[in-house]
Amino acid sequence: MTALPPARLLFDHGVPRSVDFDDVYHSADGAVAQAETVFLGGNGLPERWQDGGSFQILETGFGLGVNFLVTWHHWQNLGFHLGVRPPMGSDPTLNPVLHFVSFEKHPLTRKDLAQALAPFTQLALLAQQLLAVWPPLVSGYHRLEFDQGQVVLTLILGDIQKTLPQLRMAADAIYLDGFSPDKNPHMWDAPLFHNLARQCLPTTTLASWTVAGHVRRALEAEGFTVSRESGFGQKRERLVALFNKIPAAAFAHMATPARNAVVAHHVNPTRNTRHALVVGAGLAGCLTAEALSRRGWRVDLLDAHSGPAQEASGNPAGILRPMLSQDDNRASRLSRAAFLHAARLLQSLNHTGILQYKLCGVLHLAADAEQEILQRAAIDHQGVAPLYAQFLERSEATACAGIKTEHGGWYFPQAGWVNPISLCQAALRSAGERVHSHWNNPIAGLHREGNHWHATNSESAVLAKAPVVILATGSHVLPQAAHLPLQSIRGQITQLGSDPFAPGTPVLCLSGYVISGLPSGICIGATYDNDTNPNPTLNSEQENLARLKRLLPDLADLGSDPKSGSDPKSNPKNSPIGARVGFRAVSQDRMPIVGGLPTHEGLYTLMGLGSRGLVLGGLCAELIAAQLNGEPLPLEIELAEALSPQRFSKY
Ligand code: SAM
Repeated sequence: MTALPPARLLFDHGVPRSVDFDDVYHSADGAVAQAETVFLGGNGLPERWQDGGSFQILETGFGLGVNFLVTWHHWQNLGFHLGVRPPMGSDPTLNPVLHFVSFEKHPLTRKDLAQALAPFTQLALLAQQLLAVWPPLVSGYHRLEFDQGQVVLTLILGDIQKTLPQLRMAADAIYLDGFSPDKNPHMWDAPLFHNLARQCLPTTTLASWTVAGHVRRALEAEGFTVSRESGFGQKRERLVALFNKIPAAAFAHMATPARNAVVAHHVNPTRNTRHALVVGAGLAGCLTAEALSRRGWRVDLLDAHSGPAQEASGNPAGILRPMLSQDDNRASRLSRAAFLHAARLLQSLNHTGILQYKLCGVLHLAADAEQEILQRAAIDHQGVAPLYAQFLERSEATACAGIKTEHGGWYFPQAGWVNPISLCQAALRSAGERVHSHWNNPIAGLHREGNHWHATNSESAVLAKAPVVILATGSHVLPQAAHLPLQSIRGQITQLGSDPFAPGTPVLCLSGYVISGLPSGICIGATYDNDTNPNPTLNSEQENLARLKRLLPDLADLGSDPKSGSDPKSNPKNSPIGARVGFRAVSQDRMPIVGGLPTHEGLYTLMGLGSRGLVLGGLCAELIAAQLNGEPLPLEIELAEALSPQRFSKY
């Protein structure tokens, strides 16, 4: 199920109440004061933040987000979130980050959330920022960043019973905040506490407003020492706990390196070790460099070309759209989280002023009546949120496309096109001096000496060295990654200078795609073949023009005279003005290959993005950065494992 039924709430003397659970979202004695006393106070916050390190909080019910906003507000008050006041004795480049991970099965609509948060005037500035990135109500991970990445909210939409076992983080503090245990028992049951314990360290604290006996007993059984403090408002007592008991019964559920790699790696890497080589400056490499630099890492970015995005990422435009499937399979779930992440990344990089993109919508037309039935069924089955995806019947599709269509199709209103070169450039500009680019530096080899990887050229001269290396080399594979099952697939695009589509036409997909409204006209693509010819061919051009012809059968003379080829003189209006060939690296199972190589310490890959670098690149970069920094993973573990290079290891 992709779509989530929004929360139904009413206001009871000004206090929001859930219709479904028949309970209030917060104490009638004040939501902000409750957050400060019960949740922050119960976890020793903000005092515990004084050491200046990053901090991870897990909350069991996001609701109105008051706890999140109050926590963020106090984090800001410390003053070091924007480098205003580096904490005493801390490394000023450490960039402490507040990670707040929260679960919600019935998220509020943006309108209801705005209404519910309106009375909290002291939180208004933060609430506005939350509302600005509030996601469409579709299940999965939504990684929302604030204050230039110094506050990261990982909002996990779906039933906590299913989503918590998939989480990988190392919680420093836990807020237990479901509706009351008698009305919302699944938020307080033994399996939930069992899975919470897997996210804990011996220093993890926990707080809640309830001291219900079964909650205390279940927490004790999982390894917490539980005590009662004087309560807030009308509650006589509240609960605080520390995960320091680890009895034999709980030990089996404890976080061990095998069970939760994030807990095992929960270290703030020291300044010297936060230095990486990124090999390859396409989308994968540039976005990884940006994600690491945002966390205060130094990056040496190496590429054989004279600038970024010269190979598969170098087309004038590519499509940013998610995939859908009948059964919401792994690829669709990955694509959903990644697409929504990519749209937010564009927003956050827009300040560079060099991004070229347009979220004009994408219409994926069905090729025949059978595909139309399947497309309609996929939307109906999952009840997808209309802001995310819709099925348009033929007449609606015709109106949307501005041309007569044979069938209906999927419409993604928030999708569109992006110039990938501009995205690479924007990522590097935003990263600034922390990324040192080495252009025209082809790497001939990599080897590990002591604690460092050395990248060498063909004369064995060391170009750069660092403790961590990330291979983002597309279809060029270095020996350490040679065992990965990657295939190179050729793609040719065709550009036409004239644009027969009305302004505002969405990107049209029908066995390929047509992007109109580009500064240079339209772009048609892309072929998908095993040819190794790096130059544009007439055959591929004909293939692309046939794609356009399917959408616009009446368009005269699409440079279709094979003898004329790309000669503009033979057909000045509709002749191609440009062609480009790229080679996409595609893995055996079509999923990207993202993560650490088990055989080489400090060696990571971000490869196999295929033709989906624009959609998947940003979230995959975030996954690597999260792994390297011991952060909550931005994806459920099932997906992180489906991407890991370890899936190809022979056992
Ligand atoms: N912490 C919130 C705040 O600061 O505004 C208030 C949380 S409210 C008391 C409890 C929340 O838990 C509700 O938003 C409810 O929809 C959510 N919830 C209830 N059952 C759930 C489940 N099975 N999975 C995830 N969330 C659930």
